[in-house]
Amino acid sequence: MADIYEKKLSHFYKYNSNIHSNDIFKIYQDSKDRIWIATYGGGISVYDSSKESFKSFTQASHNLPSNLIHGIQETNFDNFWIGTSKGLLRFDFNEEAFYKFDRSTGFPLSDINQSSLLLTSQGQVFVGGADGLVSFDEKASLKKIPLEKPYFSEISVNNKPLFPVQGGIIEKDVSIVDHITLKPEHTSFAISFTSGNYLPSYKNKYKYKLNGFDEDWIEPNSQNTAYYTNLSPGTYTFLVRSIDPQYQDNFLETSLELKVEPPFFKSNLAYFFYAILAIGLLASSITSIYTAHDFWTNWNWKKKSTAQMLKTNNQKLEFFTDVSHEFITPLSIITGTLEGLMQQNRLSESVINRIQIAYKSSDRLKRLAKELLDFRKLENGHLKIKAYEDNFSDFVRTVFKSYEKIAEDKQINYTLDLPDQSVFLTFDPEQMEKVLFNLLSNCFKYLPERNAAIKLTLIESQETIVLKITDNGIGIAEQDANKIFDRFYQIENIHRNEGKYGTGIGLALSKGIIEAHHGEIWVESELNRGCTFHIKLKKRKKSV
Ligand code: ADP
Repeated sequence: MADIYEKKLSHFYKYNSNIHSNDIFKIYQDSKDRIWIATYGGGISVYDSSKESFKSFTQASHNLPSNLIHGIQETNFDNFWIGTSKGLLRFDFNEEAFYKFDRSTGFPLSDINQSSLLLTSQGQVFVGGADGLVSFDEKASLKKIPLEKPYFSEISVNNKPLFPVQGGIIEKDVSIVDHITLKPEHTSFAISFTSGNYLPSYKNKYKYKLNGFDEDWIEPNSQNTAYYTNLSPGTYTFLVRSIDPQYQDNFLETSLELKVEPPFFKSNLAYFFYAILAIGLLASSITSIYTAHDFWTNWNWKKKSTAQMLKTNNQKLEFFTDVSHEFITPLSIITGTLEGLMQQNRLSESVINRIQIAYKSSDRLKRLAKELLDFRKLENGHLKIKAYEDNFSDFVRTVFKSYEKIAEDKQINYTLDLPDQSVFLTFDPEQMEKVLFNLLSNCFKYLPERNAAIKLTLIESQETIVLKITDNGIGIAEQDANKIFDRFYQIENIHRNEGKYGTGIGLALSKGIIEAHHGEIWVESELNRGCTFHIKLKKRKKSV
């Protein structure tokens, strides 16, 4: 560039300026004295005299369709017509925007020839290209055809187009649908789109993208259809843009929310169930562990406590037996001495009465001690039954009589009911006496204050005899009826507090003796109404 006043020559070329090619095709001065440089391969550059530098417009910087510029011509509207190897451009200098006219926009020419651009004074544009000449009214070309928003023309799932159905995948027309939900079995999905502009001179350009799946915007095929297969479960947004082909930054967008449901085993509900199941399993295993632990602890505890109880009982019994054994000799001496005293005539009645009380008490103590010794023998299998046939009626009568005096003193209705004919039986009178004494003394212990009654009834049948001992005392509760025959079992009752002591082995010993006779013993009772003890023995002569 030459400055004739300064006599200075400036040389601008590719490497010291903003001109992108040294192959200059055309230099053009516009109405505002701007200098335009059209290059072959470097786009177009315009000289800024204030800065003494060039501003360039290239494929890279301004999205030109080509850097091969064949011609430039200012228009009447501060725009420029630029012919390129790939179509005609209208350049809005103020907006720095290029509008493209090529086959994609319905313009019949693509390669504009060199020096083939003319604008007449009437505003007619003549453009020459490899495919002929095109002329048009510049004013009309400036009219912007508005962009049309794209819409969906068809949506197919598993290769079948969707139609609006109540409760179906879509319930409204595809053109206005804004979300769809696909089930796991819907493996393929295709979506076609279009816009309302069908003018051949102004074809919309589309781009689409499935947010959440596609990385970049995609140019559709000629059918304007996007295809997707085997989308993973999740939520996506399908976006389609209708782009102004002349000015790319101008576009309108339509979106569709797409949800792909997971298969049931991957669904939230399934995960919820898995969680419940896992918690349930965990809880039940913890419970099982605790239950097992409890079971073993309980079992061990029970095992230990039963063993401990047996051991204690044995120790108790051993102790009682030993002590009883020691008691029997002195008690025999006491009772013997008292018996001797009672036979002396010189003593007054009141003294004899007191001696009698002492005698009864020591005699009772002696019997309790003997009972313990017998029980120990029974436990160890050393209790011998010496049975022989004898008159059982007489035997019962004798035992009955020995309590007659006490009954009389206490005004007890004390009765005996024997069969007319004497009953004969094989039994051990010594041991059987212990049984009857025990049953009778129990009856006397638990009688009411008034109207007390005790009755002995012997019933004979063909094979057996049953001796019933009935009282109208406090009775025995149903739950205790069987337990009273267990050793050391004593029912908690008020009478025990009144000094009616016992050992809890009397009935256990009685049961042992009766069973040694191959008989049975049981009680029938009603609480507070009294009870009846039954002894059933076989009549047949049998070695017992
Ligand atoms: P104890 O030495 O305590 O009398 P037993 O084995 O003879 O022991 O009797 C066991 C328990 O049975 C008694 O403690 C008592 O509670 C109950 N019992 C026995 N006979 C009678 C009865 N006739 N009436 C009410 N309770 C009875």
